[in-house]
Amino acid sequence: MNNNLSPFISTFNTKVKEAEVFLSIARDSTLQQEAIENLMAFRESISSEMATAIENENEDYANLLLGCTCVSSALVAELRMWLLLKEGKPDAAWDELVTAQMASVDAVRAHAGFAHLVEHNRKLEAIEHLVFPPQVFISSGMIVGKQECSICGAEYGDCDHLVGKPYMGRFCYIIAKDLSLDHVAIVEHPADKRCRVQHFEVEGGSRNRMTWKVEPKNDA
Ligand SMILES: [Zn+2]
Repeated sequence: MNNNLSPFISTFNTKVKEAEVFLSIARDSTLQQEAIENLMAFRESISSEMATAIENENEDYANLLLGCTCVSSALVAELRMWLLLKEGKPDAAWDELVTAQMASVDAVRAHAGFAHLVEHNRKLEAIEHLVFPPQVFISSGMIVGKQECSICGAEYGDCDHLVGKPYMGRFCYIIAKDLSLDHVAIVEHPADKRCRVQHFEVEGGSRNRMTWKVEPKNDA
């Protein structure tokens, strides 16, 4: 995203650079909170820029802006992760880490201009393994009655839209209808890393897998 930048994208790049300064546990919490608020405020400008792009049927630009939205979500989540770790809330921090990872991967899918984020995704992956203890992931197998395309509403497969691809600033995904749970399994590579074993029973209560603290049982 270096050549022929629109003024809006230049502003976006500046905002990203400003926020990146605070992506460290060592930075001041108040300044990190301010960085989050700045990003959230800028998100609104992205939305209105997006509305104009859609109106002009400029799909490439709409998808680029979708990527910008994903990047700002990733930055907000990563900043929140560091703040929550400092507040002694590692379970909530984990959820923000996973949100940051997914949003950063989404940005790469949204537009070729974000291909460089692969490097950032490696950093988030490293944080997962260096900052947090190993996790046990769960995956649920579902039986789906009906699969609907999120872009056009047709039965998925009957239309030309593909899951995970951007269309005029929106990702295509499957809206699953008539779900029933088939099985739950422990897996190594879950679709959603927020699905994990959080507690297990020990004498005197349940142990939090993240903090290793034994907490009294709720039903006591
Ligand atoms: Zn469709």
